[in-house]
Amino acid sequence: MVDFIGVSRVRELLARRGTARFIEELAAEIEADFLRWDSFEKSPRHATHSSVGVIELMPASDGRLYSFKYVNGHPKNTQEGLLTVTAFGVLADVHTGYPLLLSELTLTTALRTAATSVLAARRMARAGSRVMALIGNGAQAEFQTIAFHELLGIREVRLYDTDRRATDKLERNLARLHLPQLKVSRCASTAAAVAGADIVTTATADKRNATILTPELIVAGMHLNAVGGDCPGKTELHRDILLRPDVRVVVEYEPQSRIEGEIQQMDAGYAVLELARVLAGDAPGRASDAEVTVFDSVGFALEDFSALRYLQRIHQEERGTRSQIDLLPQLHDPKDLFGLLAAKPQRLIGANDEAA
Ligand code: NAD
Repeated sequence: MVDFIGVSRVRELLARRGTARFIEELAAEIEADFLRWDSFEKSPRHATHSSVGVIELMPASDGRLYSFKYVNGHPKNTQEGLLTVTAFGVLADVHTGYPLLLSELTLTTALRTAATSVLAARRMARAGSRVMALIGNGAQAEFQTIAFHELLGIREVRLYDTDRRATDKLERNLARLHLPQLKVSRCASTAAAVAGADIVTTATADKRNATILTPELIVAGMHLNAVGGDCPGKTELHRDILLRPDVRVVVEYEPQSRIEGEIQQMDAGYAVLELARVLAGDAPGRASDAEVTVFDSVGFALEDFSALRYLQRIHQEERGTRSQIDLLPQLHDPKDLFGLLAAKPQRLIGANDEAA
């Protein structure tokens, strides 16, 4: 039997743990794994593109455990009443190759993305950052807001989305959370939201080279948490922002980010730092208060590896609905797979067999 964590179990775990504590614990797991960067077998994700979106497979292994995530990105989906991003994943034992856990990863991707954003911002944003602009108020938005408020000390979030209903929804959800220390301001444009912000998070979905942020909006000292550009031909920052002499760009895994990140707009020689080096203290996330820092986030398989392992642990610790599924045959003789069929032959007859 294989552990199974569905959407309802993640909701239950979040209710028991609290969203902020969940993100904090997950951030600690992700950081611990980034600190042992060299123990992982890494590769850029495998992407299958269509004209409307992408479906990706994201593997990672530390030689003991192996994980993969299936994730899609379809910006047009919300017009059809569907999520832009959905995901599920598997954690497996490298020694036997057997899967240990099958889990939902849609909610979990939003949580781990927020956790990784905060890990980067802790090293890259100016100390004392209090105001964040949040451009793109869709599915990721609440998770980013909670993480930056609870874990980084953001006191004002300034919202903008081209779809007013997305901002209505975000305002409603944040009001329900009763966060007395958080001021929520609604802005009329990206420029209005960004003016005076210490941190700018972009989490828009549009399958094109968008210019959500243009050079004149960026002032010295800002930290940009660029989450939405994560696919070839799908970016959010004007190229000239990346060409500023005072810019410092941090990516998760350089070979993947060169294909998918904001830096796909730059030449191969363009200098970036990997997050693992910054977290390890080998390189600063910010060299001065005046620097403009960019976390060019695309989402890396290691974050999902950490998330699956964290989910497995708390699934086993926390009471509540603990499901397993019969994903694997259980045999007395491992060479007698066929014997499994012989035991219950009637189960083999499907509707088509009967019709024939
Ligand atoms: P979503 O579709 O739910 O929300 C995106 C929002 O962006 C929508 O409300 C849309 O109206 C808004 N938007 C589009 N163009 C805009 C513009 N020009 N200005 C302002 N707002 C605009 O999507 P989501 O699940 O919230 O994901 C947001 C983005 O983040 C997607 O592109 C997704 O692929 C990406 N993502 C990245 C990671 C990562 O690890 N880096 C993880 C998850 C999602």
